[in-house]
Amino acid sequence: MTNFVHCRGCGHQIHETAPTCPKCGAPQAVASQLASTTHAPLAGTLGPYGSIPWFRQRWALVCMFLVFAPAAVVVAWSGEIYYLAGTTIKTFPKSAKIIMTVITALLLIALAGDDEAFQGFAGMTIIGGAIGLSIRK
Ligand SMILES: [Zn+2]
Repeated sequence: MTNFVHCRGCGHQIHETAPTCPKCGAPQAVASQLASTTHAPLAGTLGPYGSIPWFRQRWALVCMFLVFAPAAVVVAWSGEIYYLAGTTIKTFPKSAKIIMTVITALLLIALAGDDEAFQGFAGMTIIGGAIGLSIRK
């Protein structure tokens, strides 16, 4: 697929990556910079982010946390958890891991007990914690 833009000088149709207009010679720097800022960062960050193991990506950790919190805690503490913030790859702060661990500990204590109300509370806590982690920036 090729994309054409209009020359900034004469309006002649030229290729979007052309540095100058072949007809009038006007520089097209702004147009080509715009093209590179719209496409390049996305392609540049999705590449490295895609190479991160699936279980170290935030969505996987949140899913794991919902299904089996202790496994998510082990993954979180054995390495970094990565997520995309805009076009930047970021990692979970230690505070998020500590919160996860505390919630998991409370959940395990609750599940070990007989109190149904407490178990319900633990279920709500783990879902809330997962939602909190998923929207955290
Ligand atoms: Zn031109």
